[in-house]
Amino acid sequence: MPVQYDYIAIGGGSGGLATAQRAAEYGARVAVVEPARLGGTCVNVGCVPKKLMWNAASLAHGIADARGYGFDVAMKGHDWAALKAARDAYVSRLNGIYESNLGRKNIDWIRGAACFVDAHTLAVGEQRLSAPHITIATGGRPAWPAIPGAELGITSDGFFALPERPARVAIVGSGYIAVELAGAFAGLGSQVTIVARQDRVLRHFDAMLSDALAREMAGDGIALVTHAVCASLTAGPAGRELHLVDGRVLGPFDCVLWAIGREPLSDELGLDAAGVTAVNGFVITDHLQNTNVEGVYAIGDVTGREALTPVAIAAGRRLADRLFGGRPDRHLDYELISTVIFSHPPIGTVGLTEAAARELHHDEVRVYTASFVPMYHALTAHKRRAEMKLVCVGPDERVVGLHVIGQGADEMLQGFAVALKMGARKRDFDDTVAIHPTAAEELVTMR
Ligand code: FAD
Ligand code: NDP
Repeated sequence: MPVQYDYIAIGGGSGGLATAQRAAEYGARVAVVEPARLGGTCVNVGCVPKKLMWNAASLAHGIADARGYGFDVAMKGHDWAALKAARDAYVSRLNGIYESNLGRKNIDWIRGAACFVDAHTLAVGEQRLSAPHITIATGGRPAWPAIPGAELGITSDGFFALPERPARVAIVGSGYIAVELAGAFAGLGSQVTIVARQDRVLRHFDAMLSDALAREMAGDGIALVTHAVCASLTAGPAGRELHLVDGRVLGPFDCVLWAIGREPLSDELGLDAAGVTAVNGFVITDHLQNTNVEGVYAIGDVTGREALTPVAIAAGRRLADRLFGGRPDRHLDYELISTVIFSHPPIGTVGLTEAAARELHHDEVRVYTASFVPMYHALTAHKRRAEMKLVCVGPDERVVGLHVIGQGADEMLQGFAVALKMGARKRDFDDTVAIHPTAAEELVTMR
């Protein structure tokens, strides 16, 4: 006989844990199925260890900047292994906290990989679990290129396992992970080359951001090779070499990291047995996170929507509110989701890019920009510019996009995202008294 629950979350990552805990708070009998460490991608091989690496690289830049403020400091080296040990210990503590949180809420952690037997029954090894409501929250994994020698490279998962810092690194890709890990490696002393298959990094973001980041990365010594499509990776006595389809050979490198996107983790879930529809592995859901099968839902990266931790958490909590909290229309609105890229300097962005706004609203679009050297850099030898953009639409200039690159952009964005969500107009920004001296004040003083 299967063990009966009210609710089962498949996956103990950001989305699965959030939805399970919210359901348990309503009194549901809940299980989380997870074969690996609790916390999923974000805690183990994503946001958390990545942010610590970003902090480390930021400190390295800070040490260089400190001389301008009169400090007699010099970089005497960096102990990557010590940083890794401290980082791993922090992540282990978080794993433990997640486990005790489940215990406190009487949620069963079933250790193993779940596979559907039918729409309401799961197999986890020899065990059988059953529930009227099952949520798929299995996330994703890094994509590997289908080229000879790909296995000589690593992905972001391998980055977090590196016992020491490689001296010469190639990062293939041009999205979030490529620029974030490039910044971490370069900040800590590696010689980094980004290998992009198109003409720029962060092609899907506002052009101001990608141009500015390319300039800042060049200033940090990060090389950018564009129009570079990889044909193979080889290993020789001098290191690894990337062979491009146009005949160029890049390298030698000590480490080649693939950062070419992520794939949904759904191939071993037995979706067919449940009758759940997926396209290219992404589980298809409606705005309420329902799949095509009643009582089966999906949240987070496996749905192919914005692959961000707070999105998975918000969708999961709202789903539990709907199923167990008596809020039948509760769902996540996927509009205006803000995001930060932890590059050096960081990027914060929400809403439409200028190009997307112009395509939608043509000459109704008005754009305000600011470009300046933040006061922090008044005294530093290495200067970084900040760039900001407000994208406004219509006669009342509703702000539909806000884009920032520069020191503090990561912490600046959250409050502005609230303003956009509330439908702020440019005049609301103008009517807000600035906070001085900050970089953020530029956003309310644009003309
Ligand atoms: P996950 O957190 O991936 O959890 C899925 C879980 O399901 C995993 O633990 C997996 O083991 C488990 N699982 C898989 N198959 C099964 C099965 N058959 N049975 C049971 N369990 C299964 N997002 C941000 O918002 N900010 C950031 O700064 C950020 N940085 C990132 C940095 C990197 C390097 C990466 C890779 C991602 C980053 N992300 C960031 C994205 C974020 O990590 C994901 O969007 C988030 O973890 C998705 O949550 P999820 O619950 O959908 O999946
Ligand atoms: P992204 O989707 O951000 O970027 C992948 C990039 O790789 C694409 O933009 C594409 O660039 C390029 N690419 C795709 N296929 C190939 C290929 N075969 N060869 C070379 N380049 C290729 O994926 P990431 O892996 O960087 O990150 C995955 C997701 O994780 C992100 O989308 C984001 O949602 C999340 N994440 C969030 C972070 C945050 O919140 N700070 C940090 C890290 C990840 P192009 O189209 O220009 O060729």
